[in-house]
Amino acid sequence: MENKEEQKKEEQTIDVLGKCPWCGGDIIRFDGKNGTFYSHLDFDESECSFKLEEKEKIYGKEVKLTDANVRALLKGKAILVKGIPSRKKEGTTYDALYSISREKGSFNDHDAIKWEMSFPESKGSRSLGKCPWCGKDIFERYSKKTESHFYAHGKDVDCPFILWEEQEIMFSRENLDADDVHDLLSDGYRMPFTTREGEEYFANVVVDKKPRIYNGKKYPSFVKMKKKKSK
Ligand SMILES: [Zn+2]
Ligand SMILES: [Zn+2]
Repeated sequence: MENKEEQKKEEQTIDVLGKCPWCGGDIIRFDGKNGTFYSHLDFDESECSFKLEEKEKIYGKEVKLTDANVRALLKGKAILVKGIPSRKKEGTTYDALYSISREKGSFNDHDAIKWEMSFPESKGSRSLGKCPWCGKDIFERYSKKTESHFYAHGKDVDCPFILWEEQEIMFSRENLDADDVHDLLSDGYRMPFTTREGEEYFANVVVDKKPRIYNGKKYPSFVKMKKKKSK
């Protein structure tokens, strides 16, 4: 009996990073002797060959994936990889966006991951929407210090509104791209929730007009939009 209890405890600490884009199974992180990788909970018995190595070689550059990267990739999003050595111009590097797709039967008759490359939008001044606090435009910006994107006003506006690329929204850590922020500021960002009974459902979330105040500082707060019709 005791053993079962312990087992249960262990299972509960497993952090599911997302659903496998090929079979829908839960993907978790494995820290093995030969390195870390991400695959199915029932890795050994699984028919599905989906597997991401922590250290992936992408177009000649070794990239170390973080849990946040894997979460984003499983959602079909692209991750930004910086400092890829250029083959054309020695000594120079470039940044690119990578997402994953499925290559059928390419590895011992199993499907394998194929990396798709695209380039970040040039630093445009596209407004992602209006700030719910002050009504002025929000833009995508990039912090060299933290090497991550964030979403805020230009330096000319004195309003502290900010959303981070890795943003906690209603107890869930979300990986936000510019389109997601646009959704959060307009008709809602779709994300999964779980009912008390453990059932998963989706709801649209927007940034509330009222900030959350903590230690005298303002932070964005989020609200679920009311459903137009109930199921
Ligand atoms: Zn799978
Ligand atoms: Zn503002």
